[in-house]
Amino acid sequence: MPLFNNKIQSIANLLNAKSELTDANQTIEILATDSRKITHPEQALFFALSGQRNGHEFIPELIEKGVKNFVVSEEKWLSIASNVNFLLVNDTLGALQKLAAEYRKQFNYPVIGITGSNGKTIVKEWLFQLLSVDHQIVRSPKSYNSQIGVPLSVWQMNDSANLAIFEAGISRPNEMQVLESIIRPTIGVLTNIGAAHDEGFSDRNQKLDEKMKLFDSVDLFIYPKDELIHYKGTLNAQRTINWSFTDKTANVFIKEIDKKINHSRIIALVNGKEQQIDIPFSDEASIKNAITCWCVLLALNIPHEQIKRRMKELAPIEMRLKLRNGVNNCTIINDSYNSDVGSLEIALDFLKQQQQHPKRTLILSDIVQSGISAQDLYVKVAKLLDAARIDTLIGIGPEISSQAGLFKQEKEFYTDTDSFLEHFSAAKYNNESILLKGARRFEFEQISKLLEQKVHETVFEINLNALIQNLNYYKSKLQPGTKLMAMVKAFSYGSGSFEIANVLQFHKVDYLAVAYVDEGIVLRKSGIKLPIMVMSPDVSAFQGMVQANLEPEIYNFRILNEFAGFASSLSTKKEYRIHLKIDTGMHRLGFLEGDIDKLLEILKEYPNLKIASVFSHLAASEDAEEDGFTASQLAILKRVCEKLEKALGYSFIKHICNTAGISRHPEAHLDMVRLGLGVYGIDSAVKNNRLLQPIGTLKTTITQIKDLVPGDTVSYNRRGLITKPSRIATVKLGYADGYSRKLGYGAGEMLVNGHRVPVIGTVCMDMLMLDVTGVDCKETDEVIVFNDELRVEELAEKIGTIPYEVLTGISQRVKRIYVYE
Ligand SMILES: *Cc1c(COP(=O)(O)O)cnc(C)c1O
Repeated sequence: MPLFNNKIQSIANLLNAKSELTDANQTIEILATDSRKITHPEQALFFALSGQRNGHEFIPELIEKGVKNFVVSEEKWLSIASNVNFLLVNDTLGALQKLAAEYRKQFNYPVIGITGSNGKTIVKEWLFQLLSVDHQIVRSPKSYNSQIGVPLSVWQMNDSANLAIFEAGISRPNEMQVLESIIRPTIGVLTNIGAAHDEGFSDRNQKLDEKMKLFDSVDLFIYPKDELIHYKGTLNAQRTINWSFTDKTANVFIKEIDKKINHSRIIALVNGKEQQIDIPFSDEASIKNAITCWCVLLALNIPHEQIKRRMKELAPIEMRLKLRNGVNNCTIINDSYNSDVGSLEIALDFLKQQQQHPKRTLILSDIVQSGISAQDLYVKVAKLLDAARIDTLIGIGPEISSQAGLFKQEKEFYTDTDSFLEHFSAAKYNNESILLKGARRFEFEQISKLLEQKVHETVFEINLNALIQNLNYYKSKLQPGTKLMAMVKAFSYGSGSFEIANVLQFHKVDYLAVAYVDEGIVLRKSGIKLPIMVMSPDVSAFQGMVQANLEPEIYNFRILNEFAGFASSLSTKKEYRIHLKIDTGMHRLGFLEGDIDKLLEILKEYPNLKIASVFSHLAASEDAEEDGFTASQLAILKRVCEKLEKALGYSFIKHICNTAGISRHPEAHLDMVRLGLGVYGIDSAVKNNRLLQPIGTLKTTITQIKDLVPGDTVSYNRRGLITKPSRIATVKLGYADGYSRKLGYGAGEMLVNGHRVPVIGTVCMDMLMLDVTGVDCKETDEVIVFNDELRVEELAEKIGTIPYEVLTGISQRVKRIYVYE
């Protein structure tokens, strides 16, 4: 077994890196590519990758944080090395992959490699659930299956494990070879070949050939026979196990599936012998994924009785963390689908990003992880809690209780969930972020029920990953150095306030803008430190504005005089940063070009007013026919800025672009852009749906279903006439929630279990009715009002408005829920 040496000198040799090592004895425990997620800086090796944001930009800040080892591709860093090691390579991603591939070679326990178009993460997580009893498993965190995620996953391998499970995902030709060389699976698992990611390939066969490269040198290969019927390549594995719905010669031939509402029985001929398993799911995808897992367990010689027992207990995989509002102004993150150190680390990382409350509490059950001693396990956990700055730990379970001495924070321990509930009082929790992390058998649902605020069943679910993806898309459109102001006015276009601002702050936007002072104060109270511009500063709110360090937009002489007078009246004679709005053609707010001389005269009298930026707003940035007008607006702003800078003797930030301006007018980006609707996933100028993802899903549930006959009518004034036997579902959403009455009488549609169904009759205040005839559904089923498939743009168009109005019209009584993968 080749021994891997994690000294930096030896890593430098391995990577053929040009290096200047100031301390060649440093040892590397952690590989890092994300500057924000480094928990132990002194043990980390940071790879400066060139993605949407150039990783080299973060180096100075990381040095300050204590990171001592870097792999870079820009030569200039070598010369600044002082107490820091730099390894220079041509390709930093290639170096990361090479290092992981070498690291992998020292382990010779079985490695399961999973690929396929869907189900990779579910199959991986289920195998983890099914095999943890008798294996010590290392697996990819979350869905780390990319060119970057795979090396980071493989780096988790260690001596105390005896099985590894990694997933590999590709979107382009030639990617799988690289992943194969890093993972080197000994057992291959193919989930399926669906339509996902077809875009990157010339056809299905090319995609299949590419995926199959993962299995080039496996000993054992597990696959769905039906999907490989047309595969022309050869299977290299010594041993294969396949399953099929149609082919009786398959190792596992599925004879019958008996679906009930929430569980199903799968009956199969396993090498000719009839066997059956029960699983607590009845949807198509879960059934296929469970069969794949069944085959893996058979391959590993797990006895049938064991397989049956474990399959019955499969738990749903909630891959996303949800942020909900709790009692007494708390925020609750409930992550109770599995419990192991890896997923604890991910959840703590998310908790750490929550700045809105001063205090962080963790309710943690015993961690179910075989292999390591309780002492070693909880020493590790205690370190994680310190790094995540947990203020209070509530430990539930005999094992964590027995290690109480290891934890430094405020702490309480209970032997089981019941005894915790006996002592529970909601009043103990106030204005804090609470993470619930419990193994399934501890049934933390009972705790979350008590801590979460009751929701009326309509929710607006905000996908924070999509928000980050959209933000990065727009960042990639900017020149290096161009700043980005994110518009979070009007409750972040209906999506929430501090929750959104918090993520934007974490992902380093430069500025925020709100419409009113009150909105800015809410952000400050939630820990937002970014500079914030207020677009409509009311004179009556100046005091609060200055106290909260918010920066006013000054758009005319009245507001200028008011603010200048106010600033002079304050005892502190400090500088006040203001933003001048120039009216270049929108004719809403702003100084006209002809006002500038007078403006300069006044500004000269108030040297404590410092111009932070000068900007204008485009009237028709999305409209190609008005591009000439847009150009004239830009020209006016440039002229005005030049004049102001000359007269004032200093420079300031200049900006004019909103979302459509960013996409359509790169020449107008200037020093900063103001990103609004696009960050929420909507931009008519971006035609490729994969680049942007709408962040909001508005959903509700069916409260009642009834069967009606011709002649019956539905809703007010009998406007919904039934003409054939029909099933009608009532849902809890009405115009008071922001669903326009214009969407009644068949105009609006919603999605019920994947089917589009029309609204029938009049939309009521709190409810409306859907015609669900022919659609398989029941009371309490989920109903999608809009999401990334039935899009808000479509809804807006039907009622003759724009997405902005629909989003900002969603009433405040609709609870916002934030999800994070
Ligand atoms: C709302 C707003 C924006 C953002 O516009 P989008 O079209 O949503 O990107 C930019 N600038 C000003 C002044 C705004 O009021």
